[in-house]
Amino acid sequence: MALVVQKFGGTSVGSIERIRNVAKRVAETYDAGNQLVVVVSAMSGETNKLVALAHEICEFPDSREYDVLVSSGEQVTVALLAMCLKSMGYKAKSYLGHQVPIITDSAFSKARIDRICDKKVRKDLDNGTIIIAAGFQGVDKEGNISTLGRGGSDTSAVALAAALKADVCDIYTDVYGVYTTDPNICSDARKIERISYDEMLELASLGAKVLQIRSVEFAKKYNVDVHVRSSFNDNPGTLVTKEDKEMESILVSGITYAKDETKIAVMRVPDKPGIAAKLLSPLSAANISVDMIVQNASEDGFTDFTFTVCKADFKKALMITKEAAGEINAGDILTDENISKISIVGLGMRSHAGVATKMFETLAAEGINIQMISTSEIKISVVIDAKYTELAVRVLHDAFGLAAKDVKAE
Ligand code: ASP
Ligand code: MG
Repeated sequence: MALVVQKFGGTSVGSIERIRNVAKRVAETYDAGNQLVVVVSAMSGETNKLVALAHEICEFPDSREYDVLVSSGEQVTVALLAMCLKSMGYKAKSYLGHQVPIITDSAFSKARIDRICDKKVRKDLDNGTIIIAAGFQGVDKEGNISTLGRGGSDTSAVALAAALKADVCDIYTDVYGVYTTDPNICSDARKIERISYDEMLELASLGAKVLQIRSVEFAKKYNVDVHVRSSFNDNPGTLVTKEDKEMESILVSGITYAKDETKIAVMRVPDKPGIAAKLLSPLSAANISVDMIVQNASEDGFTDFTFTVCKADFKKALMITKEAAGEINAGDILTDENISKISIVGLGMRSHAGVATKMFETLAAEGINIQMISTSEIKISVVIDAKYTELAVRVLHDAFGLAAKDVKAE
């Protein structure tokens, strides 16, 4: 007998008819002889509605009450699904976060799970009950309701799978899996069969639409195999799992883009020790994270210092930088809000030379200028003019042989 955790997202439980379909799928898995914990999100759109209600009351709603409110969407779906299964003759029982309990810290709206007490759930599983657990929510040590951040039901599912040492953690969603790039840009993007935790984390901008990133961190830490798959068919999706030799042989697994960055360049910065800290520490003090940084070679004792911040932080970052630049007698400040960051990700980069060169040559052949570059062990990112985003993604996807047709031809 296997212990299976299945998570269904908002779209999959978006109507009564869909909840009935989920119940059928759950019943099939149970009838096949498995123990089953089902984690559900709120019906699609419900959490957004609750968030909007909170903001109708005031601009900065109290964070404790905010979590009491936004966690309520999941209370509806666990009850409906449990009712449905019971009406079909199955033993089922809904569990809210505090009933499990899933203990978190008190960082309301972005709480982290500290531990899960599995005693009650185990007892119910052992007497043949199907557990229907509310995603997204937990309880802090004082008994306050907490939520895990938007998309947090994925993390609930992975955490429950880890705590219960489940054999399978299936995340049913409204896409077929993780793709080599955004299929809206490349119609020949391919579903990735298996991907390592680290690649999935680096593919964040792609992956975040599929899995909450925190759930991947959790899966990595506790070694949970996560199977992301469609709730509308039975096809296998993408398995997010430990890396192995075969994955290392693939140079590039995926290509992502992010259009939400902006560039700030401080010209004629006196080239002396400590200037990077002087420019950047006021930003970190304001909780603004800087992504890429480039400092040009010094000419007559001056250098240009360029960095990127996300669009949401741009105005504040510019204000702070102007002040800091004034203090160190730097020159003008130039900005560019029309940039995008293109990244290629793959475990194979660790052991194969020439991946960066191929990326740069491919972009050069299209006349796309690279403004900034940054690398990690398994990722290369470049900043380019935003108007070339789609073109860059397409030519790189082709150059690294990621299209469905390339794989079939092998
Ligand atoms: N209902 C929550 C949200 O919309 C949690 C989730 O769906 O995972 O963010
Ligand atoms: Mg989701």
